[in-house]
Order: sequence, then C-alpha cells, then structure tokens
Amino acid sequence: MSKILVAANWKMNGSKSFVSDFIREIASNYNQEHYHKLLICPPFPYLDQVSKGLSKTDIQIGAQDIAQFENGAYTGEVSAEMLSDNDCKYVLVGHSERRTILGEKDHIISEKFNMAIKKNLVPILCIGETHDQKEKSLTEEIIDSQITAIADGIDLDKHSKFIIAYEPIWAIGSGLSATPEDAQDVHEFIRYIIKKISKELAESTQILYGGSVNINNAKKLFSMPDIDGGLIGGASLDSSGFLAIAKQ
Ligand code: PEP
Repeated sequence: MSKILVAANWKMNGSKSFVSDFIREIASNYNQEHYHKLLICPPFPYLDQVSKGLSKTDIQIGAQDIAQFENGAYTGEVSAEMLSDNDCKYVLVGHSERRTILGEKDHIISEKFNMAIKKNLVPILCIGETHDQKEKSLTEEIIDSQITAIADGIDLDKHSKFIIAYEPIWAIGSGLSATPEDAQDVHEFIRYIIKKISKELAESTQILYGGSVNINNAKKLFSMPDIDGGLIGGASLDSSGFLAIAKQ
C-alpha cells in the first residue's frame, strides 16, 4: 500500500451538484491498491455530503480551517468537535491564503494547531516563503520561524501526530511548481528542524508538497525521498485529473 498522501484543497469552490459529480467519479474508480491514499478538504457546508458520499471508501475527510476556541460566542467559527461530528480527521492550519488575505498570524495558527491536536484531529500545518523571500535566500529562515512559532506554543513529542505541507507561496495557483530537487531540499530541511524535537517524530511526520502540482509533475515530486505526498489546490477540482495525480 502506498505511503503517499494526496490531499485535495478545494478552497472556496464547489456546489452540491459539483460535489455529487465528484463523489460519483471518485467512489466508483478509487481503490487503495492502485492509488495513493486520498484526503479531501471541501468547504464546511459540503463536509457532510462528501463524508456520506465517500463513507464506503478509505478516503479521508478534512476541513480547511478550525476555530482556536472550544465553543461558545464566536459567530461564524467552526469548532473542532463540529469537524469531528462531520467525520473530519484532518484540518488545514495556516494556509498562506489565510495568512496573507485574512491576516492570520502565527500565534492564532499556533492556537488552532494546538486545538486540533487536543481534539484528536491531525493538523496539516501549511508553511512556505514568498517569491521575494526566496530571491533573498531566506527560505530556510522563514520555514524555521514558521515551525518554531507553532512548536513553541505546544509540547510536541515523539507521539505527536501532525502533517506539514510545504507550499511556496509563489508556486500556489501560479502554474510554477518548485522543481522536485528544490522541493526535496526544503523538505529535508523541514525534517532536520523536526529532528530537534524528536528523531522519531522527524521520521514519522509526513511532509507534503503543495504549489501547482498537476498530472505532469506529481510522479517525479512524489518520488523524492522526503516528499510524502501533495496538497493539491486547482488541479483537485477536476475529479479525473485528481485521480490521475493519485494513481501510483
Ligand atoms: C493550495 O492552495 O494549497 C495549492 C497547493 O494550490 P494549487 O495547487 O492551485 O497551487
């Protein structure tokens, strides 16, 4: 069975009819023997529809965000327990669109990450540098600070379960993916940072690559030693294309 995880981030896209077409195609073609493991992160209103539609498969469901609060007077927020109630096992935390467009800062991301772990959801921490930071050779510094900001607020140990998605901001939605070799270098660096917490944790933590992954570049990216799968945005909205990316 493949160890690679292919995760779909639909962002703010979809409709009931889109979801039902997507599920029909995936549910009738997917099997774990011939495909990598799949995770789908739809917008909140479609979690229930996706979860019911895929209930007879091994495909996992995730959310795109989580409240840092447990429950109560937080209008518009969605709690960890509500996500679990809708069969979510995973949740994206700190996606660059939330950091840059919605102004989410490291301390909020750290609280969301914490809440996910506390409530037995697996957070997928998204990190990555801007084009400008890459040009100034600041990638490692940025990655280090983004991981440290989270790790400082929580007692991580060898048993902690989370995923990191390295998503260079310049690669997201641009059609310009990092080369497999460049992505591998950053993933190796991420593993080195996690090793400072625990060697076992560094070995067990999955590190996904995201940023313009498509049918043409997925195979090579997923073959790199420290790339454990992909977080797919735009290309995950086409069910047959998404399945092709997930094919072993
Ligand atoms: C993303 O938003 O997480 C992403 C990777 O987007 P895209 O695949 O469209 O670059």
